[in-house]
Amino acid sequence: MPSQKQTSKENSNKIQTLYKKIKKERTLVLLKPDAVERGLIGEIISRFEKCGLKIIGLGLVKPNRKLMDKHYPKTKEWIENLGNNFFRTCEENNLKIDVKKEFNVNNAYELGLLVRSWLIDYMCSGPIVKIAIEGPHAVEIVRKIVGHTLPYKAQPGTIRGDFSIDTPILANLEKRAIKNLIHASGSKEEAEYEINLWFTKDELIDYN
Ligand code: GDP
Ligand code: MG
Repeated sequence: MPSQKQTSKENSNKIQTLYKKIKKERTLVLLKPDAVERGLIGEIISRFEKCGLKIIGLGLVKPNRKLMDKHYPKTKEWIENLGNNFFRTCEENNLKIDVKKEFNVNNAYELGLLVRSWLIDYMCSGPIVKIAIEGPHAVEIVRKIVGHTLPYKAQPGTIRGDFSIDTPILANLEKRAIKNLIHASGSKEEAEYEINLWFTKDELIDYN
């Protein structure tokens, strides 16, 4: 049986690990080409700074298709979801589109692949800003500050709600991605993958 001294040391180690894990949660933000073009870099970064989150990596990048292809998920679920978003938008707008005729696709997955390619076109259309952010609940807090994916549904006070009015029906009709200014990691797992993709270890600065 471990002695009381051993157990309390184990507990204190566990608490230390948990403390570090909470304080050092990280997330990735990309300011999309529309944010850079509209001169919103400073305004957007200041929102993350003001709430107390720490910027630990920052850079202006002109991404290529290969990098963007690695960035966006390739899972069947994520791609099909993009395709189903498209179908839902048509339904909500009483719009009947023959996707086979219009886009030469047969199902939600193939349509999702097409929307994903519009998204990659858009992300490669100009410079973007990559930001690594650290702090307790960084993933959740950043998503909250960014707001709903669809700008017309995003609450006032969120970045997408305050600075964009784009809507999926216009984006789909114009065969482009929704211009919603920002990408933010959707989960801790996504954040870890994305930070490793966009930053080298040397580019991430640890400071108090
Ligand atoms: P996010 O995590 O809030 O950025 O949203 P998702 O990961 O679900 O989608 C990725 C990006 O694809 C979004 O930020 C939009 O730019 C774009 N997008 C999502 N849904 C649609 C859609 O139905 N139509 C079009 N054209 N673009 C979409
Ligand atoms: Mg996402």
